[in-house]
Amino acid sequence: MDTNLKLQQALTRLETGDISVSKLEGFLSEPSISNDIKWFLKHIDDETIPIEQIDKLRMILDVAMYIYDVSGADTGISDSDYDKLSEFYQRISKDYHFTPRNPSSSKVPHSYPVLRGTLQKIYSLGKQDISNKVNSHRATLEEWVKQKENYIFSNTGKHVNLFDEFVYVFPKWDGCSCIFEFDEHGNLLRALTRGDVSLNLAQDITHHFKGIRGHDYGVPYGEKTEIMVRDTDLDDYNAKYGKDYKQTRSIASAIINSKDSDERDNLLVRKMLREIRKGEGDIERLCPEVFDDPYIKCQLRDIDKIIDFSIDHQNGFRCDGSVIYFIDQKIQSLLGRHDDRNWFEVAYKFTEEYTYSHVVDMHFQMGPMGRLTPVVEVEPVKLKGNIISRISLGSMARFRALQLSKGDKVKILYDIVPYLDIDKKCNISHEDSFPEPRYCPECGSILHRDGDVVSCQSKDCPWVQKGQIVNYLMKRNVVGISFMTVGTLYDL
Ligand SMILES: [Zn+2]
Repeated sequence: MDTNLKLQQALTRLETGDISVSKLEGFLSEPSISNDIKWFLKHIDDETIPIEQIDKLRMILDVAMYIYDVSGADTGISDSDYDKLSEFYQRISKDYHFTPRNPSSSKVPHSYPVLRGTLQKIYSLGKQDISNKVNSHRATLEEWVKQKENYIFSNTGKHVNLFDEFVYVFPKWDGCSCIFEFDEHGNLLRALTRGDVSLNLAQDITHHFKGIRGHDYGVPYGEKTEIMVRDTDLDDYNAKYGKDYKQTRSIASAIINSKDSDERDNLLVRKMLREIRKGEGDIERLCPEVFDDPYIKCQLRDIDKIIDFSIDHQNGFRCDGSVIYFIDQKIQSLLGRHDDRNWFEVAYKFTEEYTYSHVVDMHFQMGPMGRLTPVVEVEPVKLKGNIISRISLGSMARFRALQLSKGDKVKILYDIVPYLDIDKKCNISHEDSFPEPRYCPECGSILHRDGDVVSCQSKDCPWVQKGQIVNYLMKRNVVGISFMTVGTLYDL
């Protein structure tokens, strides 16, 4: 069956309640649909894709969001891929207010609509940031700051250097976003999911939070929280309830979306973020509890501190980055709030997934230009559904700088290609580090060294000859002939 039709039917059946969530689980990993998802991820810079493809993307996003919201099950699309696809959809459809539809029932309006707002996002903190190497084409801190400084200048004529300003950096908790409404004595009135932003509708989940207390502020207030489950509860939960959740957020989502209150509610942890008190209009304050968890205060220019904190602050709960928050209230009011977003805070979001592994071996390959390229072999790890065991170091300069040895613990990031990095949690012995090869891995001739470039210069080397053929063809403007093709023809 045509994929568009399949998706259309699934969505119709969702809205009429005619399909069970368990049937939907795995729907997106059917080969025809998962191939489409891969196709979209590959064409993310292509602004000219046909209209029926845009519709298909929209339906995929809708189905994924439904599964995610209602069952918390694995959608088959990683969070970062989901973000990328939904940004891509907004760009090509020009629908910048796109939120995936959520057809679940029993929707109620929020009393503090401002709290639903999401954060602006950046994906790299600058040149020191590893994310910059993995994701070169996405929003960076520098661009964000420049845009905000220009905004202040065009509004007030003032030049402000935001990099001089002091900021708090908080963990960006990756759980389920919920809003709590308390009366003036801190009694809980309602707990709501963030819900459909454009319609100001949310799902009432108060029954899971009976008996919790807020602050006795003397005025009613609303509180934005992230509902989390501890990392250490993941395995126990799966064992006890016969589930196979990959992440704690899925558990949090499954619990708060269930109709009944039961012992599982005890697993829910409330990370309190922002609050609004009745009578104060749209002014969002930091909840006092944000300072109970790790945070730092520094100047925005202290990028290294911010990166270190972002790597190291997880503290037993799932994080997908950090939140950078301007402290000075003058800056806050200069930047203000637009389209449901505070412009004086920004989320720095990891788009790559990462994990740690151990070095098994080092291989050397000849690159297309006849240059030696080091490739690290590690104990296989799974990131974004891909098994990764070989990672190119890119250049001999990096090989020499890293001085890896067998057994070293290294960090592996994966977005589109795998990348090896070293951070504080790694363990590099510097003993018995892998030596540089003296001979060409293709023909056995002695390698030629010129600074960081190590190459084979033997006229008889098959690799060098293939490279010469490619050069010859390129000079004569023969298009569509790759090094691989020449290699295949050469080896015949
Ligand atoms: Zn050679």
